[in-house]
Amino acid sequence: MNAFPSLKLIDGKATAARVLAEVREQVQTLRQGGVQPGLAVVLVGADAASQVYVRNKVLRAEEVGIRSLEHRLPADTTQAQLLTLIDRLNRDSEVNGILVQLPLPQHVDEHCILQAISPLKDVDGFHSENVGGLAQGRDVLTPCTPSGCMRLLRDACGELRGKHAVVVGRSNIVGKPMAALLLQADCTVTMVHSQSRDLPALCRQADIVVAAVGKPKLIGAEWLKPGAVVIDVGINRIEEGGHSRLVGDVDFAAALPQVAAITPVPGGVGPMTIAYLLKNTLLALDLQQQAAHPERTPCLSPC
Ligand code: NDP
Repeated sequence: MNAFPSLKLIDGKATAARVLAEVREQVQTLRQGGVQPGLAVVLVGADAASQVYVRNKVLRAEEVGIRSLEHRLPADTTQAQLLTLIDRLNRDSEVNGILVQLPLPQHVDEHCILQAISPLKDVDGFHSENVGGLAQGRDVLTPCTPSGCMRLLRDACGELRGKHAVVVGRSNIVGKPMAALLLQADCTVTMVHSQSRDLPALCRQADIVVAAVGKPKLIGAEWLKPGAVVIDVGINRIEEGGHSRLVGDVDFAAALPQVAAITPVPGGVGPMTIAYLLKNTLLALDLQQQAAHPERTPCLSPC
């Protein structure tokens, strides 16, 4: 039994289920109009974790009625072969989203592959045009994990305007886009990283702390202002009491008594990532339809 008051828990599983229900409903409407959104998922090699991620993405896509097109390629696939496939998927009108599962084998230039994906089909939001568009505050495809975090924050905090958010970690996948999205939501944003000085003091100023580091229980209670809202992106496997289990970057048990709300690990941010991949697939379709018919008004909003 959970000894902690459940009101404080930000339930990512429940929110992800709501997002998936929204997506399913939108897909149904699209299909009634004769359009079935399609998501191409490309996996190169046999990395065990990547295989699990891809299987989950494909399953969830099918559950909401999105056609999933799986491309499993051998580990020795050349860069040229991968570029040829992406070119084909870019031109395929039945493919609205393209996801290339990372990491790619060492002999393949990841940046070059991500840049080859059409920005309008870039459901991971990693193409430079989308990264730049986010920095400029334009409506573009944005990375799934930070987009999911924004939804959790909006549900937990309501109005984000004027809140001071500290983002711990500055990766291209989580930290940087998270900071950009918070800025777009009118937060005051501080980014901290491995070279920042006095991290606990910086974090203690925050109304919102987003932890995306990859260090188990790095953030203790003394890092948090009473009443802060904490989003823990970290997923770390640790051995404890002879058992292996997942923990976040925040010391959950220590933090809980003093925060206003916090995401658990697992069951917090994790489920939101796939939900936002599928939401992004619909957004991508919408952007493609807008590009084909610029006179048409957009019908989906990013987060
Ligand atoms: P990266 O390793 O790419 O980035 C980690 C960041 O943390 C870097 O910016 C690094 O700083 C910073 N950092 C490292 N050590 C410290 C420290 N002691 N103090 C402050 N900052 C530090 O990781 P990702 O962003 O890809 O992922 C972060 C975590 O989130 C991981 O646990 C990952 O598994 C998880 N994750 C979860 C997802 C989900 O769906 N829930 C999706 C993606 C990631 P510097 O730049 O200076 O090196």
